[in-house]
Amino acid sequence: MHSTAVLKTSLLMVGLSIMPTCRMCTQNYPVNQFVKGNGPRYLVCARCAVEHDMMAPGETPLLYSDEVARARLSLFSRRYRPWVLMILGWTLFLSMGRSIPPWSTLFLIVLIILTLTTPVRHFMTRTKFNSELSRLSP
Ligand SMILES: [Zn+2]
Repeated sequence: MHSTAVLKTSLLMVGLSIMPTCRMCTQNYPVNQFVKGNGPRYLVCARCAVEHDMMAPGETPLLYSDEVARARLSLFSRRYRPWVLMILGWTLFLSMGRSIPPWSTLFLIVLIILTLTTPVRHFMTRTKFNSELSRLSP
């Protein structure tokens, strides 16, 4: 029961893409890359914990290989690219206005379609994303 609660929390954290800063190397990592604990282990990433010999006996470090790290990055960028495009598109449209007919109108239509489909697509592909993410998690 307890482990289910922990799993749900970490998935939620990944979904919100909270990236805390490590106290030792001041790098940002996903929540699941941090060692669990208080005191000296509070907000310390797995990498620093290994370097400073803070890993508890039997605890496996959650370090990603370069290949897995690249695959994860591409998975995340594929998932959030439509949102970035949408924000960029609206910024461009709002700064440019309707100055170039008919292209402005066409651009607006594309933007509206993107705005309507992106959230739907995001939630429809959530299960697939989570399963790919767990496949890429050690
Ligand atoms: Zn660190």
